[in-house]
Amino acid sequence: MSQRAFSTLDLKPDLIQNLASLGYDTMTPIQAQSLPHILAGKDVIAQGKTGSGKTAAFGLGLLDHLNVKRFRVQSLVLCPTRELADQVAKEIRRLARAIHNIKVLTLCGGMPFGPQIGSLEHGAHIIVGTPGRVEEHVRKGYLNLDDLNLLVLDEADRMLEMGFQDTLDAIIEAAPKQRQTLLFSATYPAQIQAIAGRILDQPVTVKVASTH
Ligand code: ADP
Ligand code: MG
Repeated sequence: MSQRAFSTLDLKPDLIQNLASLGYDTMTPIQAQSLPHILAGKDVIAQGKTGSGKTAAFGLGLLDHLNVKRFRVQSLVLCPTRELADQVAKEIRRLARAIHNIKVLTLCGGMPFGPQIGSLEHGAHIIVGTPGRVEEHVRKGYLNLDDLNLLVLDEADRMLEMGFQDTLDAIIEAAPKQRQTLLFSATYPAQIQAIAGRILDQPVTVKVASTH
């Protein structure tokens, strides 16, 4: 069996079966390097180019950890733009097809605020959103992060380039200290190193140069 087969991972069998139906046979390099640590509950910094398969790396991690019976926000994924958040939510829903009744909610700027409050009142397991809008829901008390156990910063370098540093800090301030944090980035400039030093706990760093 290939060392990069998903079946070598300690992943819920339903998730592994669904991957085969999606045509995901082997892990990409960044998945192979990061998933064992993510599934072990470690904080991870993963650096890899666009198209290297980062979404499934954190998506499988958060779906594996999720307790579906507990209808509370357990994972939060922050992305720089609405388009990226929509793509990530779509991929997580595909990966989650084998697990019934998982609720993934997107909270992005540029969308009406009121319906998002209604959706939050109905509840969700996983939130995918952009920093500004997520922070506003947290600050106004519509989004409660007390049960959050996994925080993902996707495209962290772009979020910082867009000036979201203070907004990210405010969200992280509202999240439980006892949590797993995953930081994904295409590049790893000093600003990212600084935020990583503050918000991750003894992270494992994974870096993949090529896509395949
Ligand atoms: P990144 O976030 O690193 O830019 P994505 O997570 O968007 O990359 O993945 C890029 C593409 O690769 C997507 O179309 C995704 O469905 C596909 N993909 C991811 N992992 C695998 C895999 N293990 N096998 C086959 N295709 C994959
Ligand atoms: Mg991505």
